[in-house]
Amino acid sequence: MEKIRNGIKASIRIITRVIAETVHRLVINIFDTLFGFLNWPEKKLRVRIYILQDPQANQVLSPVDLDTAIEYAKRSFKKNFNTRLLPHKNNQPFTEVLQKKAPYEALYTKGGISALVEEFKVAGSFFASNLTGLFYPVTAFVVLDIDHASGCSLGPLTDYVTLDPGGAKNPSTLAHEIAHACGLWHIRSKSNLLWRTFSRGDEVTWWQKNIFRSSRHVTYW
Ligand SMILES: [Zn+2]
Repeated sequence: MEKIRNGIKASIRIITRVIAETVHRLVINIFDTLFGFLNWPEKKLRVRIYILQDPQANQVLSPVDLDTAIEYAKRSFKKNFNTRLLPHKNNQPFTEVLQKKAPYEALYTKGGISALVEEFKVAGSFFASNLTGLFYPVTAFVVLDIDHASGCSLGPLTDYVTLDPGGAKNPSTLAHEIAHACGLWHIRSKSNLLWRTFSRGDEVTWWQKNIFRSSRHVTYW
């Protein structure tokens, strides 16, 4: 029964997000869909980072370990997309330790297509129940390990991304995963933010600006 309920809830979450994303790209953010490369006016993107604790209440990292990645993302998004990265509420920290115990499936999560399967199970339902707000902010969960990856995002299908400790300490992975959440996919250019590995650069193309700025996560308020 629990399995069926998780599956139904995940289907509803994904369908509502696909609708929200389409409405933003074609109506609310249509100007950026067409003219995002102009990088005007300044937009905002709100993020909350939760560090998960293992069952013995040991936290994986401490909030300061994310500072380098946050500064990198702030700089990169301002320079590339004229978008200000902000915490979920003004005057609140970006990073907190999530006090609630996370299930094993969320602590040891999966990457790639397996992450989509997990979205319909225990891990997906845990991440969904700890989101910040509806549709707009991106929540990043720092887990203990991600199978075959150091970060993962299901793009616009969810409002969260995951990082493992290595990904969280790497300067560019947080920005890279949030960029996935804002609709960008991997491209074959090492100097680009959407290059697959840690050796990526920080550049973006003009059309990546259109896609990023017209995402539902990138707002005028
Ligand atoms: Zn990626």
